[in-house]
Amino acid sequence: DRIVSASVGGDEDRVERAIRPHRLADYVGQAAVREQMGIAIEASRRRGDALDHVLIFGPPGLGKTTLAHILAEEMGVNLRQTSGPVLERPGDLAALLTNLEPRDLLFVDEIHRLSPVVEEVLYPAMEDYQLDIVIGEGPAARSIRLDLPPFTLVGATTRAGSLTSPLRDRFGLVQRLEFYSVDELTRIVTRSASILGAPIDAPGAAEIARRSRGTPRIANRLLRRARDYAEVRGDGRISAPLAAEAMKLLAVDSNGFDLMDRKLLMALIERFDGGPAGLDNLAAAIGEARETIEDVLEPYLIQQGYLMRTPRGRIAGRLAYQHYGLKVPERLAT
Ligand code: ADP
Repeated sequence: DRIVSASVGGDEDRVERAIRPHRLADYVGQAAVREQMGIAIEASRRRGDALDHVLIFGPPGLGKTTLAHILAEEMGVNLRQTSGPVLERPGDLAALLTNLEPRDLLFVDEIHRLSPVVEEVLYPAMEDYQLDIVIGEGPAARSIRLDLPPFTLVGATTRAGSLTSPLRDRFGLVQRLEFYSVDELTRIVTRSASILGAPIDAPGAAEIARRSRGTPRIANRLLRRARDYAEVRGDGRISAPLAAEAMKLLAVDSNGFDLMDRKLLMALIERFDGGPAGLDNLAAAIGEARETIEDVLEPYLIQQGYLMRTPRGRIAGRLAYQHYGLKVPERLAT
């Protein structure tokens, strides 16, 4: 498993829950999102309405699920959680919707992977709190309409582009999460370390933050590995040099790039002469699914300027050559 992978797994779930912020005030960074959501929550609470439907998009590990839970807590309502691929039939969604209490929040992760028939059911539910379901089959089939309690749909997706426009248009609030700055990640690491009871100094927290690919989930994971390392190889305290040693062991470099980032950038540079290379060709060259490249690997590399996405394909940036100690081609020298 990839250390800088942003997916959750196994026994880390318990720790994840402990360090996940529960209030908007503890949600670090994303100032615009916090302000807009703060206002929307306050206004709906005063009116006694359900919060408008919210679409949250951004790469894995940036805090979509966390934000959904915070919205429910701030609204003082229940959160039900499901995901696009899990809802196979309209009945699956109907069962969830009809069990909601007024103003409850339904969180649908990976909402871009909803099947079209399920999505159809969602439209009237979102718009008019109504559910049209078909009972029976063949000539005996009939359609009935049920009233739903007012509820809030919170959809999360790594790709806003894959959402159909009728679905996207039904969200009153659309929030895009950005990669976190080193400062923000330092605050997250410091906060998590204190919850975990792991002694860490400011340079140690910053060292971990710098290598976290702008992603809180990765920051928390690297912190846990650094804590293990400090307990086994040191006196338990996480300093900057110790954090750096721990990261080295994990093959996470000074930029937070790991072997997969290296493989991707080196393939682009060496096998495609720096690009442009099509996504499918790149995927084949490094033996990864194109979705992994698109959703997990490249967003941060693009944001940092190591990789460019152009209509003709991916191109390696000057920084990529410099990072791996390679000669920058003429065309990129400025
Ligand atoms: P996503 O749903 O986007 O994949 P999560 O919401 O599961 O990401 O976030 C991963 C972890 O990162 C959370 O468990 C939480 O501890 C931490 N986290 C995310 N966003 C923030 C934030 N803004 N402030 C503090 N911690 C955060």
